Amino acid sequence: AARPWAGKPGPASVHTGAKADPARIRLRFPPEPNGYLHVGHAKAICVNFGLAEEYAGACHMRFDDTNPEKETEEFANSILDAVRWLGFGWTHFGDDNLYYASDYFEFMYSAAEFLIQAGLAYVDEQTPDEMRANRGTLTQPGQNSPYRERPASESLARFRAMRAGELPDGAAVLRAKIDMASPNMNMRDPAIYRIKRAHHIRTGDAWCIYPMYTFAHPIEDALERITHSFCTLEFEDQRPFYDWLLGNLARDHELPDGKRLQALLGHPLPKQVEFARLNLSYVITSKRKLQQLVSDGRVSGWDDPRMPTIVGLRRRGFTPSAIRLFCQRIGVSKSDSWIDYSVLEGALRDDLDPKAHRAVAVLDPVQLILDNVPDDWSDTCSAPVHPHHEDWGTRQFTIGKRLWIEAEDFMEDPPKKFFRLFPGNRVRLRYGYVIECTGCDKDEHGKVTAVHAQVFLDSKSGTPGADTYKVKGNLHWVDQATAVPARVRLYDRLFSDEHPDSSGKNFLDSLNPDSLTEVRAWLETGMSDVKAGDIYQFERHGYFVADLKDSAPGKLVFNRAVTLKDSWSK
Ligand code: ATP
Ligand code: MG
Ligand code: MG
Repeated sequence: AARPWAGKPGPASVHTGAKADPARIRLRFPPEPNGYLHVGHAKAICVNFGLAEEYAGACHMRFDDTNPEKETEEFANSILDAVRWLGFGWTHFGDDNLYYASDYFEFMYSAAEFLIQAGLAYVDEQTPDEMRANRGTLTQPGQNSPYRERPASESLARFRAMRAGELPDGAAVLRAKIDMASPNMNMRDPAIYRIKRAHHIRTGDAWCIYPMYTFAHPIEDALERITHSFCTLEFEDQRPFYDWLLGNLARDHELPDGKRLQALLGHPLPKQVEFARLNLSYVITSKRKLQQLVSDGRVSGWDDPRMPTIVGLRRRGFTPSAIRLFCQRIGVSKSDSWIDYSVLEGALRDDLDPKAHRAVAVLDPVQLILDNVPDDWSDTCSAPVHPHHEDWGTRQFTIGKRLWIEAEDFMEDPPKKFFRLFPGNRVRLRYGYVIECTGCDKDEHGKVTAVHAQVFLDSKSGTPGADTYKVKGNLHWVDQATAVPARVRLYDRLFSDEHPDSSGKNFLDSLNPDSLTEVRAWLETGMSDVKAGDIYQFERHGYFVADLKDSAPGKLVFNRAVTLKDSWSK
């Protein structure tokens, strides 16, 4: 009877679409659709898609969907959205390079039968405990399984029984036959197939056995004719198995009965290359733990602006170019290290500073009353949309008798070097007039309820009289008559521990209870029709984005993406 591996199924018989071109690099980004992507994945995306772009090669978008229980359509779609949002695509030279590891299940199965036939794999029916005990330790070699030397024909029959659903979950595994005494634990007859009755998002219930990641991944790479398979350093010890597996599938094997098995894969074979994973201080980049934050209700969802997920960063106000700039700055290296969170924020500031429109927001308002003008006094002030882009024009806003200023900009009894408002002191209302403070009103608890001042009507910014007033303070303000209300969310780090994820600690213990503060703020006129997703620099306060989910004209909600200066330094 024709065996599944007879002839040469090879890449052409599975859906790869990839036209081999040895002169070009061909990379892949292979997430498992079991969660939303995070900033660590952004690094892997920039490495793979970025290098492909730089060297005019291709990068495949591949779902490593070999672990059915945790994978969902929602996660898969979110991953495609994230990669596209970062500005990358997977169509190169006319090929739509979107692949699914599950499309290769049949090929992987024949590769497993091939190894069994070649005497390089066997079905092991030890209990999981026996298998663990016989694996040995770093200093002790392992023990051969009693099933290791069973005839290939018997393993083949058992493997087919596994596929046919004749064995319960966990009753047997298929193992590569390599070396139980290898100093590399990954070479001690690693499991390559397991029995698992689980519904798969794409293959449904067609399979009750699934390949292990370490077996599936090299095959996926080879079928797609990947040239360099970039992975993080933890996989360095897997490289010998990667090479062992592909080397064996890509050569002919002589069988004991004199027959030959013809190679399943062609050359050249992909090479695994390791790079350092991204470790970011104060941040967790484990999908499982991020999932727990979501399911325990510690955050509002995967896209909570405090989350290091791509959707979270996006809602926080990060731009694709800021994330790409960050990845470029941290570079790619061969040794693990910690990147300080301030590097991520620095990239965002540097990205936004030249492009964000400016606006004024008073976040913690107290009223300022100009006593020497009538109730209906009003004037128009103007300010540049951006200080370095004169051609972007100006913003206009009114000034009147009653204004809002920051509560912290007034002190009745100030310390030395306080240049803002206190009785007797003069400051400039930015883009407006010079005023002199005359006093304040307080409630019965001593809390300031209003600040009083005199305005100098000949001091308006941009008029000849302005220069005759020399003041040290320059305060931002908005006119009560035309100010736009908004809710503003101010964020602090989600974890107060620099390494919340390190071993021996429960990451939930270091959750910062004050990671989110919401304030009621007043914005300058003209902000009323801001669209969700629009980003502004609020002068003196930082960069803010109109929340993608909750903000709407007339009901503005802003998230602070980042402060103007690094306030994280210890
Ligand atoms: P997690 O442990 O969070 O589940 P993972 O590595 O299992 O992450 P995958 O979906 O398999 O998640 O990841 C897809 C790709 O992203 C892999 O090639 C992996 O190497 C890379 N990647 C994941 N986390 C990081 C990180 N922190 N830094 C760099 N690359 C990463
Ligand atoms: Mg993984
Ligand atoms: Mg994982």
